[in-house]
Amino acid sequence: MKNLTSIQSSTSRPARLAALKQSFQEWSSAPDALTRLTRRLSTTLCLETQLGMIAEEAVDIIPFDAMNYRNRIARQDFVFSKGVGGPHRCEYRLSLEGNYYGTLSFHRRQRFSEEEMTGFEMLISALICPLRNACRFIAIEQAALTDSLTGIGNKRAMDEALQRAGALAERHGAPWSLILCDLDYFKRINDTYGHIVGDHILTRTAEQIDRSLRTSDSVYRFGGEEFAVLLPHTSSGDAKDVADRIRLAIEGLRVDADESLVSVSASCGVATYLPGEDVDHWLARADEALYRAKDHGRNCTRVFATIN
Ligand code: GH3
Ligand code: MG
Ligand code: MG
Repeated sequence: MKNLTSIQSSTSRPARLAALKQSFQEWSSAPDALTRLTRRLSTTLCLETQLGMIAEEAVDIIPFDAMNYRNRIARQDFVFSKGVGGPHRCEYRLSLEGNYYGTLSFHRRQRFSEEEMTGFEMLISALICPLRNACRFIAIEQAALTDSLTGIGNKRAMDEALQRAGALAERHGAPWSLILCDLDYFKRINDTYGHIVGDHILTRTAEQIDRSLRTSDSVYRFGGEEFAVLLPHTSSGDAKDVADRIRLAIEGLRVDADESLVSVSASCGVATYLPGEDVDHWLARADEALYRAKDHGRNCTRVFATIN
């Protein structure tokens, strides 16, 4: 603060403004790679874009054949690779204030010199803060799309996935099906055994649904005891089979409570995307099918039939 005050008082305001103008022009057109790299990194929070920029700028200073980066962010592996590596490697574990932000490595046919390694270290000290921000941004985005109780996608993730599914179904014409799955008489379970047991059943239900699916399918918790499953390349007949498999898996669950084993059942509604349909309409049709399953006595699946 003392330094700042003394600089301020020793120069006039117009002089300071002129100095800012000059340093801005120098900064925005600086030919050196370090300034260019930090300037470019500050323009984006996308980790993949940042890593592309790092590879481009670094190779201009220290030639290498490949650059790799790996990290685990929000329970998912993030891997970036550029080029094909040689036998020699410089590897850096990136950390800041005790937190780990991935491992960055450079590969080459010839050995890296001490001077080149010092160069990498300088580049890393310039890139670590923007890279940390990009990693955090992924984690925050992921948290905003995740249901905190079960760890599966939440309502927001489901809305985004439905929009994407509608667009893909329109473009490629392949069938997409949606299953809505609602636990039966769940209020009674909460009232009888308490919310902790209820929460445990919800977590185990999400696991059971996830286990019943292919890797291309996705599951979301979009309400209290309501789950949605999105199935690409799946006709309504096949989606009904999946829904019944999910119901059986949920029915087979046993959760310990008050020295008794609690079980639960679920009802499912299925709807297959219709060309030209609004995704809200698609969702409403699946909800209508679910309503019919409840109306039919629960623990069953109903499909919203369409006339082709
Ligand atoms: P139905 O068969 O008609 O679906 O009956 P239901 O009792 O399952 O449906 P209802 O809509 O009447 O009640 C849903 C219950 O789900 C109410 C609430 O106790 C419970 N619930 C909602 N969110 C949570 C949650 O996060 N944790 C727990 N433990 N219970 C929840
Ligand atoms: Mg419900
Ligand atoms: Mg219910």
